[in-house]
Amino acid sequence: MVRVIMLSPPGAGKGTHSRWLTSKTGAPHISAGDLLRAEVERGSDLGRQVAAYTSRGDLVPDDLIFRILAPIVVAAAHDTGGYVLDGFPRTMPQALRAAEFGAEVGLTSNAVIYLTAPEEELVNRLLDRARRDGRPDDQLGVIRHRLAIFASETAPLVDYYRGRGILLELSTDRPEADVQADLLNWLEARGLMPPVPGESTANHSARAGAMPTTRDLPHDDQPVNQTQA
Ligand code: AMP
Repeated sequence: MVRVIMLSPPGAGKGTHSRWLTSKTGAPHISAGDLLRAEVERGSDLGRQVAAYTSRGDLVPDDLIFRILAPIVVAAAHDTGGYVLDGFPRTMPQALRAAEFGAEVGLTSNAVIYLTAPEEELVNRLLDRARRDGRPDDQLGVIRHRLAIFASETAPLVDYYRGRGILLELSTDRPEADVQADLLNWLEARGLMPPVPGESTANHSARAGAMPTTRDLPHDDQPVNQTQA
């Protein structure tokens, strides 16, 4: 089963491709940003602390993130053996602590997908999203700040995971179906996709948009070729 980290600057499509990956693998989608926004909406003390950071586009402190995320990742992975982590980890300390924690509980990540797009394209997509969804941190000044935070805090994770041999870098400045075909082929070559009964594994690019739904796929752990984070 895939245990994947989606790593990308804001606007590169990690939410979209995470949801798609979940539909193809059955591994639960866990979005750090969604969980934080839900906490803010609840209006809890924790939510108020979180909002002070997210509204400015700053990262929430690592301890808060672990407090919110760790039980959810463990429960999801316990149920299915996998996860699609969207927006976590985002700092080197988070990555190191997550690797340590993952090793302790037998849930180490086996793939990291790094999505990229030119900066102005990222800004335009986020401004579009602001018009559609009205997310408070999708304003130009905050967007620029989030991109700067990505460059200083999150980008170093790319080399860290590349060094571990589990990173796939994909440009999302092209049709979604092409991105998904490359993603599928890479995961499959590494033995991370559940087999589709009665179907040859060749040439997923031809059918990346037409795979069976989650319900059609077996969700058992695949004991083959998994590189551990
Ligand atoms: P996202 O929905 O992934 O764009 O995240 C929205 C905001 O939530 C970010 O700008 C951060 O303020 C916060 N956030 C999300 N994930 C993390 C994380 N792993 N560590 C710290 N802050 C985070």
